[in-house]
Amino acid sequence: MEIQEKAYAKLNISLDVGAKRADGYHEMVMVMQTVSLCDTLSVRPAEDGRLSARSNLRFIPNDDRNLAVKAARVFLEAAGESGRGLLLELQKQIPVGAGMAGGSSDAAAVLRALNRMAGGRFTRQELEKLAEQVGSDVAFCVAGGTALARGRGEVLEALPSLPDCTIVICKPEFSISTPELFRKLDSAPVRHHPDTAGILDALERQDLRAVCRRLYNVFEDVGDRRMRTVAQIKSRLLDHGALGAVMTGTGSAVYGVFTDADAAARAARELRGEYRFACVAEPVGRLME
Ligand code: ATP
Repeated sequence: MEIQEKAYAKLNISLDVGAKRADGYHEMVMVMQTVSLCDTLSVRPAEDGRLSARSNLRFIPNDDRNLAVKAARVFLEAAGESGRGLLLELQKQIPVGAGMAGGSSDAAAVLRALNRMAGGRFTRQELEKLAEQVGSDVAFCVAGGTALARGRGEVLEALPSLPDCTIVICKPEFSISTPELFRKLDSAPVRHHPDTAGILDALERQDLRAVCRRLYNVFEDVGDRRMRTVAQIKSRLLDHGALGAVMTGTGSAVYGVFTDADAAARAARELRGEYRFACVAEPVGRLME
């Protein structure tokens, strides 16, 4: 039997970094949003009893370094089926190293798919606990939707959905290394913080414009010259009529929020000609209750 599951990308409506904790991790406060850009996962039994992945991208590892494989190991262990062989086939569309949680989302899709195959054996909360063993963003990706994430990103609170809109996502050629950004934060403390409370209030009131005025990511402030390209893409999105634009996660992808779908399509078409990747997407609601 083969089963399929979609692995949706995430965007950061906001990203704030607080104090470094005793365990060396930074305390994060992020408003996250699932969007329709997705990888497709197919899970099939492997006759040879091995657990491995396969994907359309040659530079992604297919062994235990792949977060999808890691997630499957964690799930099978918890289900007492450690010896089971599976082939996880990924059709990747989410750009890699873009700050869109591509790998984490694949991992979460594996957890949902295997749980479906096991007849819904684990609850959403149990899957989120398993997800924490795989990576910080994986717990959010289990149910997705619109959520506030704290701690390392694993302390989650569901929020009212982002009002209907069209989102243009654009990634330049370069990727930004996550450890490098966190190191920079240690030497140059964050000067400006997002208005997270204002975003929560705007979501409560379903005021898209008020959300978009508050899009903010502290990592845009600590980056190097490459942030000029990020700023250029933001300007281009705003010129096309975006209500707001911001870098997602640790970058390098940038997105803009539109109410006019035609303007969004025009912006994506133009940016696609100049940068590595550009697409149109929509917000996606919660995947599991
Ligand atoms: P995040 O927003 O969580 O920081 P990202 O977009 O910056 O994510 P990813 O694209 O998820 O980063 O992954 C980057 C690294 O993870 C790559 O070096 C890649 O080799 C590795 N990786 C492991 N598993 C996967 C996967 N299933 N898909 C993509 N990358 C993966």
